[in-house]
Formats: sequence, C-alpha cells, structure tokens
Amino acid sequence: MASLNRRATFKPYTQSQPSLLPPSLDELIAANHPVRVVNSVVDSLDLSVLFRSYEGGGASSYHPSMLLKVVVYSYLRNIYSSRKMEEALEENIHFMWLSGQSAPDHNTLARFRSGRLRTSLREVFSQVVVLLSENGLVSLEESYVDGTKIEANAGRYTFVWGKAVKTNKEKMLGRVNELLAYADKLEESDSKTPALEFEKVSPEQLQATVDSLNERLRAKDIPKETRQVLRLAKKEWPDRLARYQQQEKILAGRGSYSKTDPDATFMRMKDDHMGNGQLKPGYNLQISTQNQIVTHFSVHSNPTDTKTLVPHLKGYQDELGALPKKATADAGYGSEENYEFLAESKIEAYVKYSRFHQDQRKKKNPFNSAYWPQDAVADTIICPAGQTLSKVREYQSKTAAGNLQQITVYRASKCEACPLREKCFKAPGNREVEVNHRLNEHRAKAHKLLTSEEGIKRRKRRCCEVETVFGQVKQNKGLRRLLLKSKEKVQVELGLILLAHNCSKIAA
Ligand code: SF4
Repeated sequence: MASLNRRATFKPYTQSQPSLLPPSLDELIAANHPVRVVNSVVDSLDLSVLFRSYEGGGASSYHPSMLLKVVVYSYLRNIYSSRKMEEALEENIHFMWLSGQSAPDHNTLARFRSGRLRTSLREVFSQVVVLLSENGLVSLEESYVDGTKIEANAGRYTFVWGKAVKTNKEKMLGRVNELLAYADKLEESDSKTPALEFEKVSPEQLQATVDSLNERLRAKDIPKETRQVLRLAKKEWPDRLARYQQQEKILAGRGSYSKTDPDATFMRMKDDHMGNGQLKPGYNLQISTQNQIVTHFSVHSNPTDTKTLVPHLKGYQDELGALPKKATADAGYGSEENYEFLAESKIEAYVKYSRFHQDQRKKKNPFNSAYWPQDAVADTIICPAGQTLSKVREYQSKTAAGNLQQITVYRASKCEACPLREKCFKAPGNREVEVNHRLNEHRAKAHKLLTSEEGIKRRKRRCCEVETVFGQVKQNKGLRRLLLKSKEKVQVELGLILLAHNCSKIAA
C-alpha cells in the first residue's frame, strides 16, 4: 500500500537551457570511439595520390582527406548510400566532427567515391595495411586466402551465354557456307567458292559475300524459302555478326555476362540456408587475411577460385612490396599451376587439394588408382590384383587456366580374367590409369606440410581467419548485393568495406 502513495520524480528537463560555455563537438565524442580511429588512420596516410587526381583551377573543392574520412566512416557504420551520408553529415555529431561541420552533398560524395577513389583506393588500402604491420598488428609474412561470390548490381535475367553466342554465330555462318555451295552447284562451276572462316570473317566480308550470293542467285529458279533466307541474310546477318563479335569480346573467355553490368559473370551462389545454389550475376572477391585483418583483396570476374590465386598473390606483391612467406588456402586452390607458382615464389604452401580428406582416411578405396603402389624406376603401377600396369603413352592437356599438364597413361594387360574385374571398373577392355606425376609431387609436399604440427594449426585457424571476415562483412555489414556497377567501381566499393572492417578491428 505504501508504494501506491509514493510520488514519481523526474530529472530536470529544460531544452532551452543556455550554456555559459557551449561544449565543443570534440568533447562530446568518447576518447575510444571508432570515429577517432578512422580520423587518426586517415591523418597518418600519405594522400598525395589522391591529391594528384585534382586538376586544379575552378572553384575550391572539399578537402579529399575529409571526404575520405567521411566515406570510410560511413562504411564502418553500414551507410553505403551517398544520400544517407549527406543526411548523416547534417544530423550525426560524429560525422559533423569528422567533417569539421562541412556538408558536402550526395553528388559530391558519390563523385568522390566512384571517381577520385577509383585510382587511389588501392594505394590508400595498402598504406593502412603497411601501417598496421609496422605497428605489429598484422604480419605480412603469412596469408590466409579464400574467396566469396558477391551478387552484382545487375539484372538477374539479363544474361548473355557464351555457348549460345558461339552456337548462333556458327549456325549463321554455316548457313552462308551452305548457300555458297548451293550456288556453285546451280552454276555447275568447276571451281568452288572458298567457305567463310568462322573465326576470321568480318561483318563487311559477310555483307559482300551475301550481296554476291544474292547477285548470283537472282535469275535462278530457287525455292521460295531460300529466297527468303537470302533476303534475311542481306538485311540482318552482317549486323548480327557484328553483335556476336562484340559479345565475344566482352565475354573474353568467360561463360556468360550480364547486359546491365558486362563485367559481372553468372555464378552459382549458395545463398539460401540449405546451401542451394542459384545462378546470379556476380563478382568473385578474394581476400588475404592475418589476425582477421584484410591485408589484400582482389576482384575477379571468373567464378572459380583456381584461376584467381596467382593474380591475387601477384597483386599482393605489387601493393605490399613482397609476397607472403606462407600461404594457407582450401582445396579450391590446389591446382598444378598454383602449386608451381607457390613453389617458384618460395612460398610454403599449406594448400589442400581435392582428395586431401580422402587421403586422411585410414580405410581407403582399394580400387582408387591414386593409392596403388608405383615403381618409379620401372615406371609402372601395381593394381590390387598384383598386375603391373605399364606406360602406354603420354600426352599434354590444357587446364581451365590455359596451362599445359603432362599426363602419363598406364594400362593393365589382362583384366578380363581378373576376379576383381566387377569391383574395379566398368568400361570394356583393360583398365587405363592417367597420372599427372608433377601434380602428385606437389600434392605429396602439401600433404606433408598440412599434416605437420604447424599445418594442423593453420588448417584450424583458416576457418576463423577468412571465413570470419566474410561473415562479418556479409552478415554484420549487410553486404548482400553490390551498389556500384563495373569491376573498377566494384573494387572501390569492396575496398571501402574491407578498409572499414580493418578500422573496426583496430578500434576493437
Ligand atoms: S581389373 Fe585389371 S586393373 Fe583391376 S584389379 Fe583386376 S587386373 Fe588389376
């Protein structure tokens, strides 16, 4: 009953209370606030590369150092839209403090981000990493590498498929060659008109060929359908060929691209909770981390990780002055060309390969030829039935990245009478086994490193190095879909997110 009689009291509330000495913005910001980290990090950089992007003359510009601080801090606070940045500059004291109460509008901020930073962000990023390394927060001698696919800001149904372009072009040019042969037949000429070469023909040559075909068949009695095809060929095919050639140029060996962002490739993205893939236009982001700080990043248009390791590490060397001494990566990177590059560059390769986990099992499939004993002197392999497989030939095959591999083929001689035949293989004849000895040597070295004490530590650590950064960037920073289009601008966008991530690590 006593509590019912108690009277509520309130703290004094006077909005218009004047202050004798109004507080400065600086006083209102905590000493360890992340905004101070961004401020001091940017202040410690040499921004001459950014200053050089200003031509001079005309009206004065906002200070690039201030704009850089505002943009990086916005990314740290998950503000990616230039309009929201403009809003924050008017409403948020941290932004006001950072900008010295300047208020650049969203156009200025957007132009600065996708224009000025396009040429200078990489330099800014690596300066921050070098700074962290000099302060002992990160070591540049080791690198944990992994990649993730990020959806591009492009229409999901705006695809151009490389295979479709090739098929349609060949179909069309094949049709022209058929018409040339048909005209030769009607004219009963002894000499054959040379066929068009699919790879070399230009739209002008096609136009000339189609015009001459129309001329040659004008007075001939040919079916109505053929006449219609000739008319269509004259009207549309040279333009169509020009379009196919343009598309092939954009594809540059890729399997697809998006019409609304031609640098984006259609990739399978595991973005539902069941891990079901969906084809979406995207970019392949590769990062190197150490202590969960991103030391280097690269953006690729091809979806497979295998082809990205070498350019990624070369970029690492260009921007940070040297290659790492140790690299740890998952099985997606365990290709012959990657192992070769790592060995030539004297990098200790803690890089898994596709059968690494199978190799770890105690019970192995006895019919997997990878586990059959080999006699290096006699150059033979012994199968589970004790039969010797002899070398029958060697050939070179091209990898997806265009590198040549040396493959040796071994063949058994009497499989038909073998009691293990049913279990061993299904194809007719004697069993043939293909071996890439060079790759096997690399795998054996990698296996030794990966199963060493240090290798086990690195394998465990890899998951909480790179994967954690991807989790933080994708989940906490909400990076689900890019905002900017084209590879150049995407590099700026991802670079800013990763720079903000590094600043938040320093602040933490
Ligand atoms: S089927 Fe041929 S290769 Fe297989 S175990 Fe028998 S002999 Fe060896």
